[in-house]
Amino acid sequence: MARYDIVIIGGAIVGSSIAWYLREEKYAGSIALIERDPSFARSATTLSCASIRQQFSIPENIRLSQFTLGLFRELRSRFGEDADIAFREKGYLILASEAGLPVLKANHAIQEAEGADILLEDPTALKNRFSWISTEGIAAGAYGCSGEGWFDAHALLSLFRKGLKTRNIDFISGAVTGIRLEGSRVTAVELANGETIEAGTVVNAAGTGAGRVAAMAGLYLPVEPRKRSVFVFEAREHFDDMPLLVDPSGIYVRPEGSVYITGGAEAHETDKAADPEDFDPDWPLFEEVIWPVLAERIPAFEAIKQTGGWAGHYDYNTLDQNAVIGPHPEVENFLFCNGFSGHGLQQAPAAGKAIAELVVHGRYRTIDCSAFGYERITENRPFRELNVI
Ligand SMILES: Cc1cc2nc3c(=O)[nH]c(=O)nc-3n(C[C@H](O)[C@H](O)[C@H](O)COP(=O)(O)OP(=O)(O)OC[C@H]3O[C@@H](n4cnc5c(N)ncnc54)[C@H](O)[C@@H]3O)c2cc1C
Repeated sequence: MARYDIVIIGGAIVGSSIAWYLREEKYAGSIALIERDPSFARSATTLSCASIRQQFSIPENIRLSQFTLGLFRELRSRFGEDADIAFREKGYLILASEAGLPVLKANHAIQEAEGADILLEDPTALKNRFSWISTEGIAAGAYGCSGEGWFDAHALLSLFRKGLKTRNIDFISGAVTGIRLEGSRVTAVELANGETIEAGTVVNAAGTGAGRVAAMAGLYLPVEPRKRSVFVFEAREHFDDMPLLVDPSGIYVRPEGSVYITGGAEAHETDKAADPEDFDPDWPLFEEVIWPVLAERIPAFEAIKQTGGWAGHYDYNTLDQNAVIGPHPEVENFLFCNGFSGHGLQQAPAAGKAIAELVVHGRYRTIDCSAFGYERITENRPFRELNVI
């Protein structure tokens, strides 16, 4: 029977980053990265909008994104001269109505304290900066002058996976269907093909499937798949200066090459766990909810043509829409790195580094991630992120 010191379940961005940083931290033990679908066709990683921001409400979330930004800035020295993730540093623009102004201001103060390059602007300044916007009903906007934008998720994942090939990691293709325990320790994982792999430590990096993987070890994790539809449209007008704009309604839009992508129309009241097999976009959302909002916020978008769309699943933490990072308090050789709830792509490098530090040094050295620990779940003590997009 095969045996590894560390078995990582899920080989998309979070699992790959954990393996990468384990080796960066000079971890010398054996590592297996188990992935049920190496095409990643249904992983959140490849179905995401691949954007990075510093406009969070919690300092720890800002720090995680800043770490990733640091990696983006030194991509070539880390991954080779031809490394390119097409990072477009165009900023986010988060708009608030009068009702949302106090939260926007409070968030901005936290972001400034963390050194984030975010400007809080009134409607006149916004209109001067972005002539194409309508500031009707807007009290202020927070604009990321640098350190925010979007990139190519496939390219980032490929860089990590390619890098892992020379780092003595075993890639295993297969679905984990069971986890064995002896007393309060996990000892092995079982695969759908009947194989069993012994494990010194198991890391849950199963993304949208993380709740199900935790349950295999008899552990509760409030992470479930929640469907998110993204729509693609064309417009006559092209605004080169356009950031990722978030309307007070929650609807977002950003350029993607010569077209635009938009989403964020899911109603809070009806948002629920998705069928893990359901990847059909909720097409009516575009016409009925998104388009009227876009046409009002950006008058040039009154005449647009929807050309496509897709749906992916958020790895949604129902307790507080924030990551769960670290060991289970009782089953200490079972580690979580889950529940990123829509901001996991940009946090994956930092989260991978955090897990690697915990394994190798027994503590966090770069970013203190203890606030993301599992204990808050047992204690029902939410650590809530207010800016979930
Ligand atoms: C529409 C959409 C837009 C998003 N936009 C952004 C954004 O702009 N910025 C951002 O930072 N984040 C965004 N996200 C969130 C981000 O994509 C996720 O938080 C992140 O990709 C999670 O990475 P992961 O590796 O944990 O999970 P995943 O990408 O879901 O990967 C988990 C992997 O585990 C595998 N797996 C699961 N169960 C098993 C098992 N039992 N056995 C073996 N393998 C298993 C799966 O096949 C999968 O490949 C978005 C998500 C969606 C859906």
